[in-house]
Amino acid sequence: MTESNGPQEAWAAALRAHGRRVTKQRLAVLAAVERHPHSPAEHILAAAREELPELTAQSVYVVLGDLTDLHMLRRFEPPHSPALYETRVGDNHHHAVCISCGRVEDVECAVGHAPCLTPHWDEDAKPMTIQIADVLYQGICQECQRTQKLPSNVQQ
Ligand SMILES: [Zn+2]
Ligand SMILES: [Zn+2]
Repeated sequence: MTESNGPQEAWAAALRAHGRRVTKQRLAVLAAVERHPHSPAEHILAAAREELPELTAQSVYVVLGDLTDLHMLRRFEPPHSPALYETRVGDNHHHAVCISCGRVEDVECAVGHAPCLTPHWDEDAKPMTIQIADVLYQGICQECQRTQKLPSNVQQ
């Protein structure tokens, strides 16, 4: 894949590998999420419609759900937010959310693999094998620190 082809060919190959047809709808949704990482479905719908005006909300929701099931998209739900989607899959990166404006930033996983936190079970009582630790950082982004009064419960 050369750079000028962008991720389109990789997406097409992944869709075929999963037995999905390579449709304009699927590619438009993937491209919209790629351009607007960490976006909710309604923003993805609006962005994908710039490319494909006839897209329906229903089809975008169906495609988002399907691509998430195929692990071609990652979906995560910060508190007080609709589900957000991104094309960055296959790594164990985490997210930092600004509790003031909702801005989301990717955070590299310090450990690099899941789970990156190990629970301290009692030695003889290990009720589960842990596969994923969902880490969500919450804080105040630089922009909000500059321009807004901080919530009273936040210490600088
Ligand atoms: Zn903020
Ligand atoms: Zn991310």
